[in-house]
Amino acid sequence: MTVSPRIPTFEDVKVAASRIFGVAHRTPVLTSRTADGLSGGTLFFKAENLQRAGAFKFRGAYNAVSALDAEARRKGVVAYSSGNHAQALAYAATLLGAPSVIVMPKDAPEIKVMATRGYGAEVVFFDRYKDDREAIARGISEERGMTMIPPFDHADIIAGQGTAALELIEEVGQLDVLITPLGGGGLLAGCALSAKALAPGCRVIGVEPEAGNDGQQSLHKGEVVRIAPPKSIADGALTTFVGDRNFPILQAKVDDIVTVSDAQLVQTMRFFAERMKVIVEPTGCLGAAAALRGVIDCAGKRVGIVLSGGNVDLKALSAFFAEA
Ligand SMILES: *Cc1c(COP(=O)(O)O)cnc(C)c1O
Repeated sequence: MTVSPRIPTFEDVKVAASRIFGVAHRTPVLTSRTADGLSGGTLFFKAENLQRAGAFKFRGAYNAVSALDAEARRKGVVAYSSGNHAQALAYAATLLGAPSVIVMPKDAPEIKVMATRGYGAEVVFFDRYKDDREAIARGISEERGMTMIPPFDHADIIAGQGTAALELIEEVGQLDVLITPLGGGGLLAGCALSAKALAPGCRVIGVEPEAGNDGQQSLHKGEVVRIAPPKSIADGALTTFVGDRNFPILQAKVDDIVTVSDAQLVQTMRFFAERMKVIVEPTGCLGAAAALRGVIDCAGKRVGIVLSGGNVDLKALSAFFAEA
């Protein structure tokens, strides 16, 4: 089985938007005077923590499964993921009548494992520090004829994720800056396609955890840089490299990549819980932390920020708050 090397364009994002219409939530855009005061700008938070399955990943997953022909759907899909892609793919597959197998790290948050099974997937575990998860997933794909749907390095995934920024700009109008979290680059690449097409002049910025700045290094070096598995509370951005289809889009359409610390993520989670009454997971706070903690200068600007997900269990959340 060869995976299409196709690099998506904004046209693909528009196709994705029509496929997910009426199925994915058109998530609300949140605003806060306190957040504006802290950053000096006007901030628009796209609340993908309120998306189906709790993260923007449902957009890409549903788009990718929708794109399969009837025979491929009947055989099903397989993925390896640190969590949210797994839940999203399992849910999307179930909604579209396809079986799914998810290869997950043994140390994935319990809430994500339970949710993935709850959405109808079979879960197979691997060791994050020893096993090659991609090889395990490929084996299952070959044995059972299931289509591998990777979490970020895939044209339909990138296009699906780009619908988050498409909706945001449709709703709030022109932006000076668009900020999204960055793991493997599905969200950032897709959103950059939308931003550069709909809001010319909008700066697009990705945010990574300090401990895992492979995307930043890659952009500076002009080639994909691979790093050792990072340790951060941003468990959705523990990727060690950006995707081959994602990188050219990042190079062409992303203006900067910055980093934030775990402490800044905790401060930001607390801000959302206390001030805005929303639960955002650590990875989901990457973009907002950069805006609210002064890493990105937002003064006088209209700034769109994707809150990418909300899947954090309450035990973990209270532990983060107790330490801070
Ligand atoms: C997957 C994920 C990310 C990173 O997305 P990529 O497309 O891999 O860059 C960010 N936030 C959350 C909540 C995620 O689940």
